[in-house]
Amino acid sequence: MRLDGKVIIATGAGTGLGAAAAHRLANEGARLALVDRDASGLESTKQSVLEATRGADVLTIIADVSREQEVAGYVKQTREHFGRLDGLFNNAGIEGRQSPAESYDSEVFDRVIDINLKGVFYGMRYTLPHLRAQGSGAIVNVASVGGIRGIPNQLAYVASKHAVVGMTRVAAIEYGVHGVRVNAIAPGAIMTEMIKGSFIQIAGEEGWEEAGREYVSGNPMQRFGQPSEVADLVAFLLSDDASFVNGVVVPIDGGQSQAY
Ligand code: NAD
Repeated sequence: MRLDGKVIIATGAGTGLGAAAAHRLANEGARLALVDRDASGLESTKQSVLEATRGADVLTIIADVSREQEVAGYVKQTREHFGRLDGLFNNAGIEGRQSPAESYDSEVFDRVIDINLKGVFYGMRYTLPHLRAQGSGAIVNVASVGGIRGIPNQLAYVASKHAVVGMTRVAAIEYGVHGVRVNAIAPGAIMTEMIKGSFIQIAGEEGWEEAGREYVSGNPMQRFGQPSEVADLVAFLLSDDASFVNGVVVPIDGGQSQAY
């Protein structure tokens, strides 16, 4: 129970990595504020966490992380409800559309930046003052292998995730002195709705599973990662077990990003 009593906000908790993290964090004793723009996904995560973890304490907040006032609102509601704040899993994000740079749609570009970059900025912007005042806390921002490598046809996504890496480093060196740690994770291909949607864009409804198999055949571990494996890393980074880990970007990709 290394997160016993800690109050942690997880965004994008309606499915995928956010939902898996919610399970793991509750299981480690955290009290949770789960945020998503999708009300039904949020409710289903809440119910499954309550069923899986006896005594779990879960608040749900419907909010769009690309809207600054809604981010200010989810932080305020969390503090009013629990009376404190210890951590943020700054996770909500979208992939955008697969397209070469010259035909990348400008509106999609803006939407990806609004959610993946500004949403992460706003999350830090509104939680950091409380963590600083308290003299403790941890933030885990979700970048991607696309935050440390180029990925063809994902111009906006890669731009936004490189920005997440940069913002993580800046916040880490600014707030370490206040006892606040800011780290990022860089997942590779983890089997969620997002990655499935990505392969459907590439190979269609019929061919996506085959395209996925072919893709992971190039991974040193020759498989997709599972959301629960990412949740294990997130729980570690949010816990005091990582008390001197600050400003790092941890790839979680089976080693794929190390290959030449
Ligand atoms: P997902 O699409 O399965 O889930 C994303 C969740 O975020 C959904 O519940 C969605 O409703 C929510 N969301 C999206 N936009 C939102 C907004 N504006 N406001 C509030 N909620 C919003 O995706 P996932 O695979 O779980 O990805 C989670 C994060 O991990 C993303 O930042 C993604 O870029 C990153 N990531 C995923 C992978 C992967 O392989 N799955 C790899 C690298 C990085």
